[in-house]
Amino acid sequence: MSLSENLSRVRQTIADAATVSGRSPGDILLLAVSKNQPVPVINEAASLGLELFGENRVQEAKIKIGQCPGRLKWHMIGHLQSNKCRDAVHFFQMIQSVDSLSLATEINTACDKSAKTMAILLEVNVARESTKFGFKPAEVIAQLEAINALRRIEIHGLMTIAPWVEDPEKVRPLFAQLRELKLRCEEKLGAPLPHLSMGMSGDYAVAIEEGATIVRIGRSLFGERRKAL
Ligand SMILES: *Cc1c(COP(=O)(O)O)cnc(C)c1O
Repeated sequence: MSLSENLSRVRQTIADAATVSGRSPGDILLLAVSKNQPVPVINEAASLGLELFGENRVQEAKIKIGQCPGRLKWHMIGHLQSNKCRDAVHFFQMIQSVDSLSLATEINTACDKSAKTMAILLEVNVARESTKFGFKPAEVIAQLEAINALRRIEIHGLMTIAPWVEDPEKVRPLFAQLRELKLRCEEKLGAPLPHLSMGMSGDYAVAIEEGATIVRIGRSLFGERRKAL
């Protein structure tokens, strides 16, 4: 399958899932996960109309971003180490993987130094897997106000990585939990949060049915992942 055929299929799946749940396909952002993909592949994706890309390592991303069209937008989706915050703030339009108050504080400090603001999502480990990063649901509520008080950070919503399962219906309740957690955050902040980033190649249709506004798709677009660059 070519990238262009894969993209058509993914767009159709997004449209179908949106329609099933009474939403407009235009309300769902397709983020192409380009980790481990070389620049020519990203440029091909960009020429097919993709504009939003996700990377999980700052070091790899900064090299690639410099070689790609300036109109592309980049989101950090992998665990961020505090010594990479300055680069992350420089290269990314959003950090989706904020998984602690201390990381949020470091990002805020990096933003201060470069007079920027940063859009973030709070990563939630809804399934409480010991192998994954992310806040526990109760921690998000407990630390929300402290994070929101950081002046150069804008909380745009929540992100989760569901466990891998063969049948995506099994993770539907986790997506529903993230949606409910977002409602509780909105109540606490007294303001709407626009984004729920949930759904990957194996489960994005179900995630959209449960309210995803950003789906992060790697393999369904680019095929099985190559080894790290
Ligand atoms: C790799 C990755 C994805 C994409 O996964 P696929 O199964 O290839 O679609 C999405 N989100 C995060 C955080 C990732 O690391």
